[in-house]
Amino acid sequence: MDIRALFSLVFVALSVALAVCGLIAFRSRKPIGVPLGRMLLALIPPVAGNLLIISATTKLPATIGCYLYYIGIDFTVFSLLRYILSYCNIPWKANKARVFVLSLLGLDVFQLLANIFFGHAFSLERIELYGKPYYRMVPYLPQNLHRLLVYGVLAAVLVILLLKMLHSSRIASRRYAVIFFTLLAVIIWCSFYVISRTPLDRSMIGYAAFGLLAFYFSLYYKPVRLLNRIMMDISAELPDSVFFFDDVGSCIWLNREARRLLGVDGQDMGEVAEKLKPFNASGEGTDSWTSSLELDGDEGRHYYALEKRTIRDARGYVDGSFLSIRDDTEAQQNLMREAYRARHDELTGLYTRPYLYHCIKQRLSGASDGAFCLVFVNISNFKLINDVFGVNFGDDVLKQVADLLRALVPQSGIYGRLAGDTFGILVPVADFDAEAIERRLSGFTVDTGEIDYHVLIHMGVYEVKDASMEVSVMFDRARIAAAGLRNDYHTHIAWYDDRMRDNLLWEQQITGDLKNALTERQIVPYLQPLVDATGKVVGAEALVRWNHPEYGFLPPARFIPIFEQNGMIAEVDRYMWRCACAQLDRWRDNDLFISVNISPKDFYFMDVTSEFRGLVKEYGVDPARLRLEITENIMISDVENKVRLLADLRQAGFIVEMDDFGSGYSSLNMLKNMPIDVIKIDMVFLRSSEQDEKSRMILRNIIHMSTDLNIVPLTEGVETEKQYDELSQMGCKLFQGYFFARPMTVSDFEAQYVTAA
Ligand code: C2E
Ligand code: CA
Ligand code: CA
Repeated sequence: MDIRALFSLVFVALSVALAVCGLIAFRSRKPIGVPLGRMLLALIPPVAGNLLIISATTKLPATIGCYLYYIGIDFTVFSLLRYILSYCNIPWKANKARVFVLSLLGLDVFQLLANIFFGHAFSLERIELYGKPYYRMVPYLPQNLHRLLVYGVLAAVLVILLLKMLHSSRIASRRYAVIFFTLLAVIIWCSFYVISRTPLDRSMIGYAAFGLLAFYFSLYYKPVRLLNRIMMDISAELPDSVFFFDDVGSCIWLNREARRLLGVDGQDMGEVAEKLKPFNASGEGTDSWTSSLELDGDEGRHYYALEKRTIRDARGYVDGSFLSIRDDTEAQQNLMREAYRARHDELTGLYTRPYLYHCIKQRLSGASDGAFCLVFVNISNFKLINDVFGVNFGDDVLKQVADLLRALVPQSGIYGRLAGDTFGILVPVADFDAEAIERRLSGFTVDTGEIDYHVLIHMGVYEVKDASMEVSVMFDRARIAAAGLRNDYHTHIAWYDDRMRDNLLWEQQITGDLKNALTERQIVPYLQPLVDATGKVVGAEALVRWNHPEYGFLPPARFIPIFEQNGMIAEVDRYMWRCACAQLDRWRDNDLFISVNISPKDFYFMDVTSEFRGLVKEYGVDPARLRLEITENIMISDVENKVRLLADLRQAGFIVEMDDFGSGYSSLNMLKNMPIDVIKIDMVFLRSSEQDEKSRMILRNIIHMSTDLNIVPLTEGVETEKQYDELSQMGCKLFQGYFFARPMTVSDFEAQYVTAA
């Protein structure tokens, strides 16, 4: 085959290859795709030009080839420059440089085209080679301009590549070196043709080959060694310990963390295998496994998460395997700490409520041995403790109560803190020594720094009958039992029975009904006559009655204690006082007085003095006709204030009576300090004076002493004429009791004792 045909074929093949590769490059998603594609397509015109020159037998096609070649080279070097910048990942933002290069190249293209008219740059000459006509270029001086420009750009490209090579790692520099040396070779190859002016100019073969090489390096070349290197580096730096094994399971490599873990330098693989044994044992025989391991070391227990993976080839033969060991100690400890925190109350260290419930449930469901007591523990005066001594002391009390539980609850029991000032216990009935606990609780004090303060603890006990009952429901029942004790300072333990729950329901029901009862006048005052020593009715005590639409006639004992607990007593009393004043207003024309009851709780909820002042003013009633019955219980706390309060009431003209004297804490001593007008001697005194002489003496003395103190004695509960006579002889001035009359409706009272004016 002749040379011309051969090279023509080569050029055609190269052109096709460049076109195909160029299109592939354009369609690739890589950022370098577009500059690469442009460069590859830009190579096609000069290759075609080269083809025309070499295959031309007449001057015209050779001339056209020449122009294609030169002008094409201009475009080629420009797109080469852009491609190389992209290849080296150098952004070409400098617009000025781009415009400069482009305009130089544009000028050159212009100059080359001008050659058509002026023939100043080059011409073609015909020569004979192997007996065949060929054309080759004859350059003139201005043609050097073109060369200068092209070489300039090529030099710039080489410099860029060289710099990039020098400033990259050894492995990374390879991809620049390949391009650099190929391009250098191509330039030398082309220069040879330019200088030798061989008529068979094959220079573009070099450029085209370069283009194809660049195509491969830009899109397909994977630097395997670089990849290996990076992966090894990453493995070496991993925070996990990593071991690589060959196909027969011998360790061939281990990373830094792995060397640290085993305490080896990694030189002696025998030593590695030896020390690795406790870790590698878990899944022996299986391909891939994960497991965890606990090992006791010098600095305590360590937790490890292990993963072994075996790698196989396509046919299933083992290539090798790797083992990674992560030291999970910190995470594990955090988990355990968190679990502990969730299960233990921070302040007292006792179980938290959820965990206590959980434990109780488990114990009950697993229990085959007898009955259990569920105990609700409440610090009854905790709010007071917090208010009086401060929250820090309150915390202290809680801690000491926790210690008390630790001491009280036997081994067989479970206990924890439910919330705030409440605790819970589960204990076998057989191990619950109520008497011992009662003793401990009655003597339980906390040192405030100044005094030993009695912390009042109440326990409600629910005997578990049905172990499948919700723990919270059982505690609700135990709580009801404890609530029954309320302000009881003497009893500390109460057992739940269903009546308690009924009582609670009753309380809720009756409390809900109160508002209506007042507005609908279901609640009314009854009057019980008060009699003097001559048998004359001088006044009455107003006693509350509730005619409930559902439950019928309710005596005060059924609801007063409930309302005293929840504070609604103030509503009832205020209403009763108003009724009394209204009644006195109606009795304008006689001297009858009315006594009203004041609950000790009323003082919490209102300003009693101004309440009464307001009422007598509103109804225009003489305050001396409204007698106020207070009980000695109000003197339990804040005595000074109470004394002042009573003095104020007397000052305002009211007559103050001390009710139920002798039923509670009263002392005769108290009497002399109390600004009161009347004492109502409780009926228990009268009852016991019937039985023994001593009580009768005390009764007589109370009457005498009060008379000496200028306090009028009144005895209540007089049921017989004999009592009336004896009391009169003792010097008692006023009397109240069934002997004279039972409490009755206002209209009955009026019918019997009020003479129409
Ligand atoms: P209290 O103030 O000691 O009232 C006297 C109670 O003794 C009344 O019971 C009365 O019916 C009863 N009684 C009177 N004479 C005799 C007698 O000869 N024998 C016996 N066995 N009992 C007699 P009542 O009406 O059931 O009231 C009970 C308590 O309820 C009262 O005791 C008082 O503490 C309270 N109470 C009644 N009404 C009111 C009220 O309006 N407000 C407040 N805060 N408490 C009230
Ligand atoms: Ca009374
Ligand atoms: Ca009384």
